[in-house]
Amino acid sequence: LTETDLLPQKSDAALVALARSPKGTKRYGLARLVLSSGAFIVTSTTESDLGDEIARLAPSELLISQSDTNLVSEGSSFSVTTLPSWHFAPEIGVARLKELFGVADLGVFGFDNTPEILSAVGALLGYVNTTQQHVTPHIRRPVFETSDKLLGIDEATRRNLEIIEPLTRDDGPTLFKTLDCCHCPMGSRALKAALMNPTREVKTLIARENAIESFMGNRALAEDIENFLSRLPDLERLSSRIALGSVRPRELLALKDASPLLKDLADKVLLANDPYLETLAKDLVIDARLASSIEAAIVEDAPMSLREGDVIRSEFDSELAQLRQIRDDAGSLVLEIEEREKKRTQLSTLRLEFNRVHGYYIEVSKSQASSVPEDYIRKQTLKNTERFTTPELKTFEAKAISAQEKGKELQKELYERVVAETAAFIPAIQAAANSAARIDALCALASLAFENNWVKPELTKTPGLEIRGARHPVIENTVTHYTPNDCVLVPGRRLLVITGPNMGGKSTFMRSIALIVLLAHIGSFVPATDAKIGPVDRILTRIGASDDLARNRSTFMVEMTEAASILHHATDKSLVLMDEIGRGTSTFDGLSLAYAIAVELSTARKAMTLFATHYFELTQLADTYPEIANVHVSAIEDNDKIVFLHEITDGPANQSYGIAVASLAGIPHSVIKRARGILMGLEEKAAKEAPWQLSLFDRQIEESSPEDPARQIVKEIEKLDIDNLTPREALDILYALAQKAKNL
Ligand code: ADP
Repeated sequence: LTETDLLPQKSDAALVALARSPKGTKRYGLARLVLSSGAFIVTSTTESDLGDEIARLAPSELLISQSDTNLVSEGSSFSVTTLPSWHFAPEIGVARLKELFGVADLGVFGFDNTPEILSAVGALLGYVNTTQQHVTPHIRRPVFETSDKLLGIDEATRRNLEIIEPLTRDDGPTLFKTLDCCHCPMGSRALKAALMNPTREVKTLIARENAIESFMGNRALAEDIENFLSRLPDLERLSSRIALGSVRPRELLALKDASPLLKDLADKVLLANDPYLETLAKDLVIDARLASSIEAAIVEDAPMSLREGDVIRSEFDSELAQLRQIRDDAGSLVLEIEEREKKRTQLSTLRLEFNRVHGYYIEVSKSQASSVPEDYIRKQTLKNTERFTTPELKTFEAKAISAQEKGKELQKELYERVVAETAAFIPAIQAAANSAARIDALCALASLAFENNWVKPELTKTPGLEIRGARHPVIENTVTHYTPNDCVLVPGRRLLVITGPNMGGKSTFMRSIALIVLLAHIGSFVPATDAKIGPVDRILTRIGASDDLARNRSTFMVEMTEAASILHHATDKSLVLMDEIGRGTSTFDGLSLAYAIAVELSTARKAMTLFATHYFELTQLADTYPEIANVHVSAIEDNDKIVFLHEITDGPANQSYGIAVASLAGIPHSVIKRARGILMGLEEKAAKEAPWQLSLFDRQIEESSPEDPARQIVKEIEKLDIDNLTPREALDILYALAQKAKNL
């Protein structure tokens, strides 16, 4: 889809091809093309990451081999097109790439040894070729994305953090909506793309931060720049319409008008005195010959389409000028002939007229029809009139009509030539569009940072996160008083168990940290007073209890699937958010799972983890594991009312406030009163009878866990008195040990 009116302004419509490695290595290649901008990226991924990668690439249409349809689940948000599997032969990809980019060796692209990518590319370019009739020349060089360059955000996390789409209501707030104060749709799309693909390339991030800083330091200049940006046409989409030959006259005029605007914009951007902005400014300027050639060819007030009138200037082509002369003179000639014939025939009712079906004719009333001269040839008889033509009129008609037709045809030809000449500037227009989009996105981030007192994050090589005065970028402006909080996750303190009442601000705190880390990886300033951010490879989340009934998975199943994926992917550089894990099953099950998951994350995976939980028992983890610390959200109860402070403080929560929150929610007073009574009774009983809550994770219970079976075999070997064994006994023992080892 390349029709500007049909495309969503702030999103790209992407075509993605998915191919399985022909070598059976369980790797998958993906190629993504946005035809309306020419942006072309490719990547390779594993089976377990495939779903997340497809989600990140956000296809509108997915191309897949007939034999691989099982790779996409039913009910996907995009349409799936299947092609016969031979379309996915890597050799086709090689040939098409060589042809399209005129290179002899694919080494320049960096994925020449990755057959799954070549397969996907071959199918994608072939499909574009077929559907667009010819391969469009505006496809940009493919960018090879590798996971070590990107901050990994899986599909669940993107959803949970409400980065692009809100979780519930369609019009709910999202991070993108909060950030998007861009002044042209190109900027909004660039910002969205950055959020979908946060980068780990520190050099890029620092360049963006510095650019933002310089815009923050000169607000008047930034506003000037925004003003220019808001007057730009959608150059990106224009360039693809030129390439496809579907560009309209008025769009070309808009391009012509944009040219001096871009020059002025570049001059302004240079005033910011920033090296990155300087490189962007250079790309903004399009050779003035583009504007002058459009101006020389297209009339200033051109109609919407070629069919609706004069688009090409008469001065542009002498033959066109002549044909138009004949056409325009036809009017006065008609009057002249009519005058003359009236005089000659003396018939008062004579008129010379024209209609589309019958062309030019002389009309005379029935009563005067018999008095027409001899050279009049009868053409048509109506109820009250007769219509005639004359040899002179016939000649005139042929000339006038053919001039008009020829003029139209010639105009079409000339227009196509102008479009083809303009096509030579496509790379320059794309570069300008790309620069304008980036400048716009940086301006938007700068004005947000300025208005909300965001700070420049320090991207360190030292592992860990140290964020002071963190706020949630979306919520900070929706509440009257937002309480900033600190978060320190460093080696030695890798997992924070967060306890405290519902509505206390636990998930807001966790999300604020994840969003700050994300913002830092798009090169933005962050809502905090100070932020030191070490290397982060992924953000992984398990938040909320969303049923996935469409895929026939219960709440608990969804919860465990997400937890499994987190345990599988988390490294010591991952930021993990766990909210209320284990809630979907019975207390003992849930508690045990939550406990084991927390231990695994902090000791084996060594991930930076925020672990909000209702299981009070988990606060004891900190006693056993030095990497685990307790924090809590505080609240005060005043006269049966609860006041949330939303403040994260060290140590476990001292009370759960469940009943107070229930009362706040409007549970009738009689129920609240009874619940309080029951709670008091339970607490007294528990205190007397050694509560299970406190004994569950005693050292004793832990130590009673079954011994590692491998260790048992080792112990048996240690116990053997080898010198006193007969060969037969020794052989028996060896058999027995081997069997045990096999059963491990
Ligand atoms: P929990 O996860 O503990 O149940 P939430 O994080 O959902 O609580 O927070 C509940 C509400 O409290 C939020 O919707 C928000 O309006 C408010 N809130 C949360 N954190 C803060 C904060 N730091 N400052 C001000 N209000 C907050």
